[in-house]
Amino acid sequence: MTTGTARAARWLEDGQLKLRDTPMIFMYHGVADVDEDPNQLCVSPARFAEQMAWLARRGLRGVGIAELVDAMRAGRQRGLVGLTFDDGYANVLETALPALRQHGFGATAYIISDRLGGTNEWDEGPVWQLMTGGQVRELAAAGIEIGSHAATHMRLAGASPAQLTAEISESRTSLGALLGTGIRGFAFPYGSMDAASRQAVRDAGYEYACAVEASTAEIGLMALPRLYVGEQDDARRMTVKRLLYRGRIATRSRPGGQTPDNPPPGGSAGQAPRATS
Ligand SMILES: [Zn+2]
Repeated sequence: MTTGTARAARWLEDGQLKLRDTPMIFMYHGVADVDEDPNQLCVSPARFAEQMAWLARRGLRGVGIAELVDAMRAGRQRGLVGLTFDDGYANVLETALPALRQHGFGATAYIISDRLGGTNEWDEGPVWQLMTGGQVRELAAAGIEIGSHAATHMRLAGASPAQLTAEISESRTSLGALLGTGIRGFAFPYGSMDAASRQAVRDAGYEYACAVEASTAEIGLMALPRLYVGEQDDARRMTVKRLLYRGRIATRSRPGGQTPDNPPPGGSAGQAPRATS
């Protein structure tokens, strides 16, 4: 039986990660009361408060992913849950931040560097405001980690080398200039990635990247899997979700545990409504 620390040291050498060593990372987009949300991207403020209280009641602490990766390196990730917000909606600053602060939680917001102050025009559906550069700085000053969600929110699997440079490397440079700090993390738009885009993330100097779904072979620092959390996830469903996540880990950790005949448990509680991020 190896200790967590020994395992952490082993996976850091090759960037690979055993799923059982991967803490839960929640994937959010917006926190707002909205009339129409066909892509299920928003959680209401009331539901979000319930979900944060659910974590706190279990003695779990929400943290940003750079902090989570540091804890994983040190073998002390127990009790930590990663909290992430993709796209950089203005309501993350206005609504999610106060709820996070109430519990002393951290989080990471993944920002689309060429769309500061714009809207989610890549989505079909309702139009929502994205943070301006000033608002992103305000969020960073409040202790929320800022990561890159590419430059324009394009799918990166199959992208050309020039597109990978513009979306991955240049977005890091531009967000770093905005904040005056290094940008440690990246999140793949739509969870769309392949070996070339993961390599481009590594080459650009990021320490880690968040995916949505990742295969056993892909899981690692450049493809941290995340769990969709939505408006339907009340406290009861959060409990089921956590158990399913643990069950998935147990299944995948057994040799040959995950086969086409023996898929990981997941079902609707563990899955995003569609591959969106
Ligand atoms: Zn996104």
